[in-house]
Amino acid sequence: MPVFKETYNNLLAELSAKKVTLVAVSKTKPVEEISELYDMGQRDFGENYVQELAEKQEQLPSDIRWHFIGHLQSNKVKYIAPFVHLIHSVDSFKLLKEIHKQGLKNGRVIDCLLQVHITREETKFGFDEKELEELAGLHTKELKELKNVRITGMMGMASFTDDERTVRNEFSFLRSLYQKFSLKFEPLGFRFSILSMGMTSDYKIAIEEGSTMVRIGSMIFGEREKKK
Ligand SMILES: *Cc1c(COP(=O)(O)O)cnc(C)c1O
Repeated sequence: MPVFKETYNNLLAELSAKKVTLVAVSKTKPVEEISELYDMGQRDFGENYVQELAEKQEQLPSDIRWHFIGHLQSNKVKYIAPFVHLIHSVDSFKLLKEIHKQGLKNGRVIDCLLQVHITREETKFGFDEKELEELAGLHTKELKELKNVRITGMMGMASFTDDERTVRNEFSFLRSLYQKFSLKFEPLGFRFSILSMGMTSDYKIAIEEGSTMVRIGSMIFGEREKKK
C-alpha cells in the first residue's frame, strides 16, 4: 500500500503551524514505504520492535532520527544504543541504568522520555505518579550519575475509547505530571522539553492538551496487518 501523500502533507502543515513534531510510526511497514516518506522530507520515524528497528536502520539513510516507542527490555538496549535518537518508553529505573551503560559504551548521551501510565487499563506500561515520585526522590544521587542518559520529557497513551472526555482528561493529567516533574528533575540535571502524546485517533485532543510530539502511523501509512 502506498503512503498517503496528501494526508501527510496536510498533517505536516497542521502540525508545523502548532510547532508539534511528527514521528511517523512505521512499525510493520516495509523500507520502501519509509523511503517514500523520507523522500518527501520526513526524518523522524518511530518503531516498536528492537529487531525490526535494527534491520531497517541498516537499510535506510543514516540521517533518519529513529524513535523507539515500544516496550523495551533491558537486555535489548544494546542493539539500538549505537544509533537511536529518542527512547520514548523508559518505564523503570533499571532500564534507565542500562541505557546509561550502553550510552557510555557507545560514547553517546541517549535521550529518553519517561513513559507514564495514565489510564485505568492494566495492560499499559509506564510509571504512575507515585513511582515517578520514588524515582525522583529515592534515586536522586544515582540519577545525577547517569551522565550518558538524558531525560528530556514524558510519553503517555490514552485509553482506546471513543469517549473524548476520558481521553482529554488523561492527556490533561499527563500534562500536569509533566509540569510537576519537570520542576523535580531540573535540579537533577534533566531539562524537560518533550511531551509525547497523541496517535492517529487522538492527536488533535493531545495537541489541545499540550502535546509537543505526536506519534502517528496508520493515518499516513494505512492500517497495519492485524498480528502486530
Ligand atoms: C503504533 C503506535 C503508535 C501509532 O499508532 P497509530 O494509531 O497507527 O497512529 C503510536 N504510539 C505507540 C506507542 C504505538 O505503539
